[in-house]
Amino acid sequence: MTKVETNAEGGRSVFGSAWSFAKAAVSPQMTPILYFLDFIVHPPIILACIAWGLYINQSHSLWFALLMVPMGLLTWTLAEYIAHRFVFHKVPGIKGMHQAHHDETLELIGTPTPISLPILLISVLWPMTYLLGTSLALLWFAGFLFGFLAYTFVHYAVHHFSSGGWRWMKRLKWQHNIHHHGTSDLNFGVSTSLWDHVFGTYSNTMRGAEH
Ligand SMILES: [Zn+2]
Ligand SMILES: [Zn+2]
Repeated sequence: MTKVETNAEGGRSVFGSAWSFAKAAVSPQMTPILYFLDFIVHPPIILACIAWGLYINQSHSLWFALLMVPMGLLTWTLAEYIAHRFVFHKVPGIKGMHQAHHDETLELIGTPTPISLPILLISVLWPMTYLLGTSLALLWFAGFLFGFLAYTFVHYAVHHFSSGGWRWMKRLKWQHNIHHHGTSDLNFGVSTSLWDHVFGTYSNTMRGAEH
């Protein structure tokens, strides 16, 4: 009887821990470890993708293969724009999570690594292996994942760090400030304003005041 009770309690305890982890993983507000996990997990993956992609490359020149890395980075900047404009601000459920960030800009809100990484591997890397072949897709994905990591850092930095007098950082902070406190229909790019310029959603002004 005692043994059964102990087992039952143990089961509840394990279930409770798993439930707490699952809740923390899907909650828009994260612990610092969960929020910054990308910076521990992604760099080795990026390096492994480059090394593996080059190792199995047999059909392309080294320079053409390496060109895939900046191409992946450029594709990320477009993905960042599209995700922010058409997913974070439009898709029910995700919209609420992004609104939580708009309401509390300093809170650690985002999609944690255990969820975002499998999504990236399955919905981005896997289809790209069919389009480019495994070797080029791995190199392209290294650039894409680097862009994702850079975006995560830049987005944290624009909210938490001062510009330190850097013009580039000052501009990124101002542009994202307009998105948050001016019109959320403008300045969807966080790490670059390139696609806002292309699609006509760029603004350098807030409430009519020229910066
Ligand atoms: Zn923000
Ligand atoms: Zn937004």
